[in-house]
Parts: sequence; structure tokens; C-alpha cells
Amino acid sequence: MKGITKILSILLISGIILAGCSGDKDSASSPNYELENVEFPLEEEVTLKFMTQSSPLAPTDPNEKLIYQRLEEKTGVHIDWKNYTHDAFTEKRNLALASGELPDAILDAGFSNYDLLNYAEDGTIVPVEDLIDEHMPNLKKVLDARPEYRDWITAPDGHIYSFPWIEELGNGTERIQVVGGLPWINVKWLDELGLDMPTNYEELKEVLIAFKTQDPNGNGEQDEIPMGTIINGWDQDPAIILGSIGLGDNGDHTVVSEDGEVIFTAMQEGYKDQINYLNELYELGLIDQEAFEQDWNTFISKGDRYGLYFTWDKANVTGMSDDYQVLPTLEGPTGERIIVQQNGGVGFDRGRMVITSSNKNLELTAKWIDQLYDPHHSVQNNWGTYGDTEQQNIFELDEATGMLKHLPLEGSAPVELREKTNIAGPLAILDEYYGTVTTKPDDAAWRLDLLKEYIVPYIKNENYYPHVYYSLEEIEELTTIETDLIEYTNRKRAEWIMNGTVDEEWDEYLQELERLNIDSWLQLKQEAYDRTVN
Ligand code: CA
Repeated sequence: MKGITKILSILLISGIILAGCSGDKDSASSPNYELENVEFPLEEEVTLKFMTQSSPLAPTDPNEKLIYQRLEEKTGVHIDWKNYTHDAFTEKRNLALASGELPDAILDAGFSNYDLLNYAEDGTIVPVEDLIDEHMPNLKKVLDARPEYRDWITAPDGHIYSFPWIEELGNGTERIQVVGGLPWINVKWLDELGLDMPTNYEELKEVLIAFKTQDPNGNGEQDEIPMGTIINGWDQDPAIILGSIGLGDNGDHTVVSEDGEVIFTAMQEGYKDQINYLNELYELGLIDQEAFEQDWNTFISKGDRYGLYFTWDKANVTGMSDDYQVLPTLEGPTGERIIVQQNGGVGFDRGRMVITSSNKNLELTAKWIDQLYDPHHSVQNNWGTYGDTEQQNIFELDEATGMLKHLPLEGSAPVELREKTNIAGPLAILDEYYGTVTTKPDDAAWRLDLLKEYIVPYIKNENYYPHVYYSLEEIEELTTIETDLIEYTNRKRAEWIMNGTVDEEWDEYLQELERLNIDSWLQLKQEAYDRTVN
């Protein structure tokens, strides 16, 4: 009797567990609708369950967004969202993934290279390359047009585990991210002091000295900061003007030679000359004293005292006034003028959406996601939409041509307006869409024109380090090495700019880089590059 009760209880418990997993309305994922050869709109509406994240400015229920309402009408698929604000999302997502209570898919998933392989390995997310080939003509078209994106989303094991976000603005050496920060020089001060635009490093030094000593802002005080910068601060670092010295430099001290060799710039002979030049400026009092430790807010608070500074968009530091213009590329000791690209390529996020192993409607889900890669849809996903009668629109739809035209922002901040109405999910915007599917946003068009004039002609080497897909073992090794290597490299760079001892300490420095496994690092980076590019 006791035995039978025990068996019964076990059956009861199993029964309850089975019911919990069979896709009733409390389950985190949807039941199997047994749909094949799916065509939209479905004859009978079904529901998929997705997790996502949004800006706190956006509606709590994503279905209040016009883009999703139109998509539901078009597909006959209702999405039941679990939506979290950006600050809470990662923790909630990780909890759900750990509990096994998986939604059908995660949109705007924020999956890193490591996350993708880690959750693929334990079976939490599923490979999607067959779904792309069989059910996703829009995405397939993008990957056929740009095979490099297929390479960048294909894991070292040959599978694809995610749907990417791709935003091209220009491409090749004309892409908007070809460099990060631009050098902005105060031309009003040049005029005030009757100085010409500097063309080489010596002339730049003379101009900065004049900025410091001749009171160009005319207030009778020596309050000018000739060079505003955050040393080792990426877009705010002076690396962008050092391209004509040695091999130049960029934020991660990595360049790829024209022969495809991965090079660590911070161990090349010419690197010393860059440091010595910056040290000379520092000793003359031309570099902001706070350049080695300040945060972004401190940096921008001094904007109008800068003679020359570095950042992506001057609007964030000194506004859009014409007083600051791009400093033309300086001529180096060999008479050449050179710009070094930054690494990483185009606007690209590999892990923007994933499908979980709980999903029982793979074809349906794939076809729904493929709608997001329709060119008109992608454009709206990224920036926002048109025809909203309740709030400001990003676009108007030109009925005659079908083109989405950016409307004037009328004082609204572009990021805020976009976050309220876009969906930031997986999407692809190729450069050829501009002028056919959509217009360029004004801020992007302005920067692309500047790049074309001041930057692109001076890029002598077309190679850069792309978005390679590392294996879990590689990530582990890279992380171990870089923790010390990058910290040491950047610390010495800052010290040397201040104290000028790079030549004396150079051999010791190279030995330390060796001890920190620079050789293994270079080998790993080279292997990953070779399998991605070749
Ligand atoms: Ca002054």
C-alpha cells in the first residue's frame, strides 16, 4: 500500500511537471501550433512569447509601438512580451536562462561572443543556419550581398547561433566608423592670432604655444587649454593625429598590414616618436593637466577653453558652431600624410536575437524574424517610423516612391525620439538603401562628408581587424592576457607622455610585454584574423 501511494505521488508530481511544460498560458514558451509552409498573414492568429528590453522612455508594453502593431496585422502573429528596461534586462535575462524557463526567443538579446557559445554549448539556444537558408529570404539576401557578415556570424564550429544587427553608413574606407574621434581645432583662435592652419607636427606645436600664451579668447587670463584630451580614452585620445608617425596608432594598438599581418603598434620603433612628441607638448604645458584621469563630464565641461580636442562629434563638446573645424591630416617626417583606421568595421552586433531550445515553432519564428530584415522594416526598426498620429515621427513616407524620408528633428534629441518609437532588434541597413529605401539621417550625412574630405584620402592601408568570432578557449586566453597587457601598455604610455623616459625604458618595456605573453596574443589574433578574412 505504501509502495503504491509512493508511485501514485510520483506520477502526480510528474503529471504536474508535464502540464507545466506543455505550453499552457503560464509557460514561458508557446505550444506547438504545428504550422508548416507558413504564409503571412496567418488565417488564425497565434501567439509567440518573446523577451526583450527597451529604453525607459519607450512604452512598457512593446505592442503599443506602431511598428509592432503593423507587424501583427501583417503576420497574424501576436507577440506576448516580457519586456525589461535596459538597466534591469541583463540580470532578468540571465535568471531566465539559468532557470530553464525559456521564452521562444529573445529580441535585442545583448548576447556577446562568449554568451552565444556558452549558451549554445549547453543547448539553451539553437543553431539557425538552416532556418536562414530555408525560411529567411530577406536575411539571406543581405548575407549574399555581403559575405563578410556571414563570416562574422558563423561560429568556429560552423554554426550560426544568432541574428545580427547591421547598420551601414558608407562602406569600405568611407564607412562612418573608419575612425572614431576627429581632431577639432579652434579656427576662431587661429584667425584672432593671425595664424595659418598647421600642416605638420612642428607647426601644430607652434600654434598650441600661441593658443597658450597669446590670450586668443581675449579675456586677459591664461585660461586656454591648448589640447583637450583623455589619454587612452579612445575617441578622446590624440592617436588620430599620430598616423603619420611610425605605423600610427588606434584605441586598441592593433593594425593589420597590407600583407595581412596583425601588428601591435605599441611595440614598434615609431611608437616611441609618437610618445616623445606628446611628451614635448606636455612639458610645454600644452596638454590639459587633467588629461590622464578625467571622466567624460569633466572633459566636456571645459569645451570652450580648448584649442584642439578629440571626439566623434563636436556637437557634444562645443556645439555646432563653426568655430571648431577638423584639423587637416598632418604631414609626417617622411613627408606623407597618413590616417590609421580603427578596428571593428561597420555598425555590427552579432547577438541581437536568439531562438531558444524551448521554441516549438521554428519555421514560424524564423519567418517572423525575417520580416525585420525587409529593407523598409529594417530602416524603421533602427530609427523609428512614420504616420504616428500621437507622437513626433522620425520619417514621412513618400507615397509615390515608397521612400522613407527623415523629417527635421525640430529640437528633439535624435536618440530619445528614436528610442521611443524604434525596436532596435535584428535588422540590416545596407549602404545602397540610402537614396532608394531611405534618406540618411542629417547627423550621419554631415560626418560622412567630413570623412570624405579630411580622412578617407589619407588612409593608405585598407586592412583593419574585423569582428572575428572567437572560440570559448580563445576568449579565455585573450581575457587572461589582455587584463595585464593592456593595463600595462596604457599605463606606460601615460607615464611616458608625462615623464619623457620612453627611450631609456624601452628595452625593459619590450621584455615585460614578452613576459605578459604578447607573442601568444599576436599568434591568437593572427589565427583568428586569417580564418575570418581568408
Ligand atoms: Ca584667455
